Amino acid sequence: MSERTIKVLEINLSEEKIEVHHRKDLNYLLGGIGVASKLFAESVNPQLDPLAPEQPVVLANGPLSTIFPVVTKVVAVFRSPLTGEWGESYAGMRLALAMRLAGFQAIVIHGRAHAPTYLSIGPRGVKFKNASALWGLNVGETGSILRRLEPNRGHRSTIRIGPAGEKCVSFASVNVDTYRHFGRLGLGAVFGAKNLKAIVIHGDKDEPIPDSKAYNKVYRDIYQRVVKTDIMDKYHGVGTAININALNNLGGLPTKNLQSGTFEQAGNISGESFAEQSLIRKMACSGCPVGCIHIAMRRREFGPGYEYESKAISYDHELIFALGSFIGMTSQEKVLDLIDLVEELGMDAITAGVALGWVTEAYQSGIVDEATLGTKVDFDNAEGYIEVLKNIVYPPNSFYATLARGTAAAAEKYGGKDYALTLAKTEMPGYHTGHANVLGLTVGARHSHLDNAGYSVDQKHREQRDLEKMVDDLITEEKWRNVLNSLCICLFARGIYDPETVVSALGSIGINTTAEELNALGEEIFKTKHEIRIKLGYNLDRLTFPKRFFDTPSLTGRLSSENIKRMLEIYKSRL
Ligand code: SF4
Repeated sequence: MSERTIKVLEINLSEEKIEVHHRKDLNYLLGGIGVASKLFAESVNPQLDPLAPEQPVVLANGPLSTIFPVVTKVVAVFRSPLTGEWGESYAGMRLALAMRLAGFQAIVIHGRAHAPTYLSIGPRGVKFKNASALWGLNVGETGSILRRLEPNRGHRSTIRIGPAGEKCVSFASVNVDTYRHFGRLGLGAVFGAKNLKAIVIHGDKDEPIPDSKAYNKVYRDIYQRVVKTDIMDKYHGVGTAININALNNLGGLPTKNLQSGTFEQAGNISGESFAEQSLIRKMACSGCPVGCIHIAMRRREFGPGYEYESKAISYDHELIFALGSFIGMTSQEKVLDLIDLVEELGMDAITAGVALGWVTEAYQSGIVDEATLGTKVDFDNAEGYIEVLKNIVYPPNSFYATLARGTAAAAEKYGGKDYALTLAKTEMPGYHTGHANVLGLTVGARHSHLDNAGYSVDQKHREQRDLEKMVDDLITEEKWRNVLNSLCICLFARGIYDPETVVSALGSIGINTTAEELNALGEEIFKTKHEIRIKLGYNLDRLTFPKRFFDTPSLTGRLSSENIKRMLEIYKSRL
């Protein structure tokens, strides 16, 4: 590996101080999740609450960030207020580029500001700015004002929280440049607890490429494969929302709180129908020629008479599943209204949708009544759900205060665990494909389908179910994804960035490595994360699996709890 240096910006909000460290010792971790895991391990305190001021937030990009196609992500690592354990989330748009051109590969934030604050970060330093006037504003308003307060110098990225983050809702998100998010596991609440409303990063440094001839050659090859082959077609065309119809046809689309794997009205809210009726444009993260971000237009009446507003709202598979099929929404308008509210409040959409599914059944079974909820709820009743979402952020009673800590916390206190669709306290994503999906979500570092692609492992082993091979596939995939995530490659481009391509890309900028070294790195990060998770309270012997996963047939048929237990034992034996 070359003698480059990882430049880490350390920010102490309590003392309004910064330090810059040049960490050659982190080089072998490349960047992204490798570097972020190490920096997080150096300062997390397992004895303290996730929202304690001392707990760190680490942001990191990688050496290939935005200088190669579709290498666009920044990773955030934190202690999750939703699960109490490992928090890991990725976001794109302009953040990775702005960080790169501000000259930092990682940013570590500690402490708690004395008053609402936003940070303005650039190559020449950090300014701590009073954000009292922004506190209480929703995500959209905050972004508009910040763009005026922080005029564009070079490439600017604006990340901010909404009221859900300020109120420390355990599944609050951090919005990144309007259309991307650090969504899952509650980074927004960690920002809120730190009195940190936003960060604006200005990147206006030049960064020459040492050997532009070698770089250009590898870049061109990757670019051609991105734009001239069909590997990325799905993402630009209909987008990930193409999965709605595909999963529905196969019986793997979680519907009405997973009472079913198929949704009769899926055609109304499918990616294809969104494209025909609501799509107005597509956008891309900086450095991506694909453009998978699909934006819909919602035109609605906001007052009596002829008073209308038009709102551009992004959608994808997970959003349509969580705020669509999972709660029985039968029209695009209703789905878009719910997405819009969740965005403006600053909440993770998947978690919010799964919580609404649980609330619906809890209401139907008499666990919670209309007086407590302040509204009636039912599948396909958007008005009721809008009330519930607002009450989560501004809780009028202890029921909502508990629900603001997530579905698992609410089911633990009020009942209904059988139909609380969480695994390891994390709400399920939009796939009900089989055993590998359930196990993968439970054991994956961040309990995401993106950890180890259990949905794909299920389909690969559909004809012949070999539990050992399925577990091994999950582990192999998670280790390799740690490598991709150390480079902050968008996982949609995992078909482009095979080991040989990654080695060439790194070599072209002077980082010489081999496929074997990369695999060893993936393994090391896997172990590091596992050790930290154990310290934070993750316990493989205390995992439970809601009954609903076994009652409702999946894409690969009905699941058996015995198989899941067997797979869990195999998984433990591999650690
Ligand atoms: S494929 Fe989509 S999410 Fe990935 S980098 Fe491109 S625009 Fe961003």
